[in-house]
Amino acid sequence: MKVILSESEISAGIAQLARRISDDYRGRPLTVVGVLTGSLIFLSDLIRRLDLPLKVGLIQASSYRGRATSPGKLAVADLSGLDLAGRDVLLLDDIYDTGQTLKEITALLHSQKPACLRSAVLLWKEGRQRVELTPDYHCFRIPDVFVVGYGLDYNDEYRHLPHVAALEDNERPDCRAGFAV
Ligand code: 5GP
Ligand code: MG
Repeated sequence: MKVILSESEISAGIAQLARRISDDYRGRPLTVVGVLTGSLIFLSDLIRRLDLPLKVGLIQASSYRGRATSPGKLAVADLSGLDLAGRDVLLLDDIYDTGQTLKEITALLHSQKPACLRSAVLLWKEGRQRVELTPDYHCFRIPDVFVVGYGLDYNDEYRHLPHVAALEDNERPDCRAGFAV
């Protein structure tokens, strides 16, 4: 495994993002909604650095992808039951890849009529986007490699790594089929 982002680089990137978000919202109440499971560690590190009146919500997203390369249907479950109507909402996900997840969850949250809906991701993978929508905030751009660690998994393993690393193809037998979200 090749380390792409070290623990200290991630920490510095998140501190910088937290300052930006705190400045942009300037004391306005915010609801941060994290997409499980991948955003778990990003969410917990970011929210502790936000200097804002804050509520935190969680949604669970699972995409079922067949052996084909086309993305499967995304199933989303709201785990917190927070009322987002009239609130400033910031959606958090681990990685912006094709953008399909961001697009679908954004549409879902919009249906709850938030006052303002933005999105933030830890990683923006270069050259993979298939939708117009882009995240409002991101910490790092990475090349088109499959990464694990800091919340991101392969077969539900490696989420606990403190860094982000690229998995070689021989460490990932079934290649791109069926990412766990
Ligand atoms: P999307 O293609 O919809 O932007 O991303 C869907 C999901 O695929 C992400 O939320 C993430 O869970 C997963 N994903 C995309 N790229 C990677 C990657 O490089 N590593 C891992 N572990 N998951 C990824
Ligand atoms: Mg995810």
